Amino acid sequence: MNINFAINQGSKILKNKLIPNSQLDSEILMAKTINKDRNYILLNSDYYLTKNDLINFYRLIEQRSLGKPVAYLVKKKFFWNSEFFVTNSTLIPRPETELIVENVLQVTKSSNKINILDVGIGSGCILLSILKERENFYGTGIDVSKKCLNISKINAVNLDVTSRLKLYKSNVDKFNLGKYDLIVSNPPYIKKSDIKYLEKDVAKFEPRLALDGGLDGLSEIRKVIKKAPKLIKKKGKFILEIGFDQKNKVVNLLKKEGFYINSTHKDLANNDRCIVCTKI
Ligand code: GLN
Repeated sequence: MNINFAINQGSKILKNKLIPNSQLDSEILMAKTINKDRNYILLNSDYYLTKNDLINFYRLIEQRSLGKPVAYLVKKKFFWNSEFFVTNSTLIPRPETELIVENVLQVTKSSNKINILDVGIGSGCILLSILKERENFYGTGIDVSKKCLNISKINAVNLDVTSRLKLYKSNVDKFNLGKYDLIVSNPPYIKKSDIKYLEKDVAKFEPRLALDGGLDGLSEIRKVIKKAPKLIKKKGKFILEIGFDQKNKVVNLLKKEGFYINSTHKDLANNDRCIVCTKI
């Protein structure tokens, strides 16, 4: 069977299972199967597949048909300017989280040698993208998940920023190491009772630990905001991702802890997603 035929078969299987973007997913999974990029498979569509290739391809198609996200099947996701290694222990980097990176670069335009703390580093996509952009910035990442720290480490090696990165397994309430010029965080902020309404791919396959924000969705955000003043230098910035309906509540929590709100930012779906504030 040639590449083109197999891709069309794969796409049909996915379409029957109501997977959106079935053709694209089938192409990406074929590229993964034969370890080439998408251009190669489109340019060599009459190339004949081995029996083993076919078995591997249909195995990936089957997993995708059950809802497993493509990023977990190909074990990578592009974010900002780099490709990140991901497994099902980390949240898949999302385009809206690039708002944090964008705002960090904006507020640190004339900064040098600053120390940044990422609370809940996950795959490392936020902090490592920043370190890659700014060659004299230093980063510290904490996470409660050892697996996430291992993945962040792999990504730091891939992006060649390990010499400027420290990683610690810690909960934010228990973390007392250092004072930072800037804190970033994309904590879990989905209401526990809303997790079941997320897209099936998310709810069934992404880590609860990275999504579950407790009864009102704010329990982890509250923890980070309570601790941030102790970890951040005076006039330091705090840039954080929030749920679409959390802006007012989070702004109030931040003000109560002594932060001045600089700006809030909407994502491409026009939802409030990112808050930039300063410790006064
Ligand atoms: N934005 C993610 C989602 O809606 C949630 C990420 C988070 O809780 N930090 O799936």
